[in-house]
Amino acid sequence: MAEVVGPFVLRVPGPVGPPPPRHVPLPDTSDPPRCDHPRTEVRRMRQSNGVFVARTQCLTCGAGIQNVRKDSVPDFDALPAFDEPLREAWRSRVDRYYADRRAAAAS
Ligand SMILES: [Zn+2]
Repeated sequence: MAEVVGPFVLRVPGPVGPPPPRHVPLPDTSDPPRCDHPRTEVRRMRQSNGVFVARTQCLTCGAGIQNVRKDSVPDFDALPAFDEPLREAWRSRVDRYYADRRAAAAS
């Protein structure tokens, strides 16, 4: 006598309704703007003490990466000026990111 295994019921998922309303904001898993400094260039930067130094600057975020010996630069005076506005712009972008995140957490 054959053993009956079953019954086999195929469970068909019901129609998918609209997602439940989101009362709770999802945790913010976004990352702050980040830069790996893909392209850098040696620039002439004025330090706060007024002394000019040669420094590599990231052309994306404007960060000053590394000081370079002045005597290793062929023509120090011909170096392009360090781009402060670029660095400021990136900084405000990062500030804005955190401000938005605080605002989202407070709402
Ligand atoms: Zn960078």
